[in-house]
Amino acid sequence: MALGLYHPPTPINEPILSYAPGTQERKTLKAALDRFSPGAPKDLPLVIGGKRRKGAGSMDVTCPHAKREVLARCAQANTADAEAAVGAALAAQKDWSRFPFAERASVFLKAADRLAGEYRAEINAATMMGQGKSVHQAEIDAACELIDFLRFNVYFAQKIYESQPLYSPRGLWNRSEARALEGFVFAVGPFNFTAISVNLATAPALMGCTVVWKPAPTAVLASYLMLEVLEKSGLPPGVINFIAGEPEVMGKTVLGNPNLAGIHFTGSTTTFQHLWSTVGQNIASYKTYPRIVGETGGKDFVFAHSSADPQELITALIRGAFEYQGQKCSAASRAFIPRTLWKQIKDKLVAETEMIKMGDPRDFSNFMNAVIDARAFVKIKGYIDHAKQASDAKILCGGECDDSVGYFVRPTIIEAINPLYRSMTEEIFGPVLTIYVYDDNKEAEAVKLCEESTAYGLTGAVMACDRMAIDRLSRSFLNTAGNFYINDKPTGAVVGQQAFGGGRKSGTNDKAGSEWNLARWVSFRSVKENFLPLTDYRYDFMKEG
Ligand code: NAD
Repeated sequence: MALGLYHPPTPINEPILSYAPGTQERKTLKAALDRFSPGAPKDLPLVIGGKRRKGAGSMDVTCPHAKREVLARCAQANTADAEAAVGAALAAQKDWSRFPFAERASVFLKAADRLAGEYRAEINAATMMGQGKSVHQAEIDAACELIDFLRFNVYFAQKIYESQPLYSPRGLWNRSEARALEGFVFAVGPFNFTAISVNLATAPALMGCTVVWKPAPTAVLASYLMLEVLEKSGLPPGVINFIAGEPEVMGKTVLGNPNLAGIHFTGSTTTFQHLWSTVGQNIASYKTYPRIVGETGGKDFVFAHSSADPQELITALIRGAFEYQGQKCSAASRAFIPRTLWKQIKDKLVAETEMIKMGDPRDFSNFMNAVIDARAFVKIKGYIDHAKQASDAKILCGGECDDSVGYFVRPTIIEAINPLYRSMTEEIFGPVLTIYVYDDNKEAEAVKLCEESTAYGLTGAVMACDRMAIDRLSRSFLNTAGNFYINDKPTGAVVGQQAFGGGRKSGTNDKAGSEWNLARWVSFRSVKENFLPLTDYRYDFMKEG
């Protein structure tokens, strides 16, 4: 029961810890990494209605950098488990949706505080080992971004509840109510960000929805640990139900349920389109039109103008393309560079890329680690092998792929002679940057290519010092990037600073970590209360004059 109009704590972004030699955080993290070392795989059960279930089988969770090291064994749900997860979500829905907002919010705020402290090292270590991230990449994802999602979402949700009709004339009180969706939400996560995976479940739950949560098979370890943190922070049973298993089986069972109220998805464009078309086929059977929110693929660009600073451009390209092995949805994977500038940067860009150190994330001197799994390795290698043979593209550096121990792909730069060469237009999702060099006097042509040659619209960056060029290019790329950067790499959006999401085939652009996303998980009711109800149905104009 709320006995006041409460204001949640004002959020600020969680500070990023350095993990420099000698720091306490480095010591604590190293100890946590040791606990994840192979030999004692953790059992990850299904969690349905707060109860642990074994499922119908189990799947090994291995390290991307050491494919024979088994980190965890994850229970696999069958159709009955998926149905049970839906049932548990529906059973919890009434109480959770009627729970006062301050009580719901407190669960997530407490989880954020505990994650920032006692669980930080554990989640970071799980993300490093399970998803192949360097310590910095894990820290900005599994710790900072996730903490920010949990804290800022409470602030944004409060704004939604506080948003009320502009006016109530004397005798009336107009009100707006935001109630949780009727039914359950299906949250389906990607492998590449622990923060995104968890937010897919917690954002609807904060708004009073109950959730069936299916993280990606390669991200189950960190996601499961976060579920434990949420439970220890007071999340009631059944609010978030954790299932893993054959995606097609899960999808079919869950999407076939008439109580599906929403899908919160992040992953590839193909999977999203499959989920959406399944919903389309079932549309007549649902009790309510499901809300569909999806953030999907990208072919993110850096467009350099001849006035760009050469060293700033080199840094933006290397960090933008190769951090986390290019497996950020926002990673720079194509660049347009004017010929005069290319002459100045080419040798240095190649030399610096060749010096990048790659290996096991437990060795903190590595800038890059392995790509996520065999499927990704084969796909990326396919693009590299194609470029090795191509007459309209050439590999400038990298190109070595080695999966003998883990899935390692050297950072690779391809120069495309043909601006429509496949690595210039298709999402690869690996450490491959393709560059197209344009003639300085053909900027408009290059802009058109950048704008029109892919189906996506996620992130993009313009590098230029000339203010007129910045203005011109910003306007040209209005629909090409949901997150647009000027003189910065196109990655690294921060909750509360740059709300994230893209349009076109990159998603519904509902901006994770904002009130626009949270508004998708509520249904509004407009209430008019009349303090002075009329007592006569006749209007004045009807009276005799
Ligand atoms: P994916 O599409 O292979 O898998 C995403 C999720 O969908 C996984 O949990 C998977 O098991 C599940 N899935 C697959 N088929 C399903 C089905 N039939 N029914 C139900 N669930 C199903 O994507 P991924 O490889 O995990 O992630 C990489 C992709 O995600 C890239 O395309 C990347 O651009 C995108 N991504 C986008 C954003 C963004 O904000 N736009 C963020 C992160 C990742």
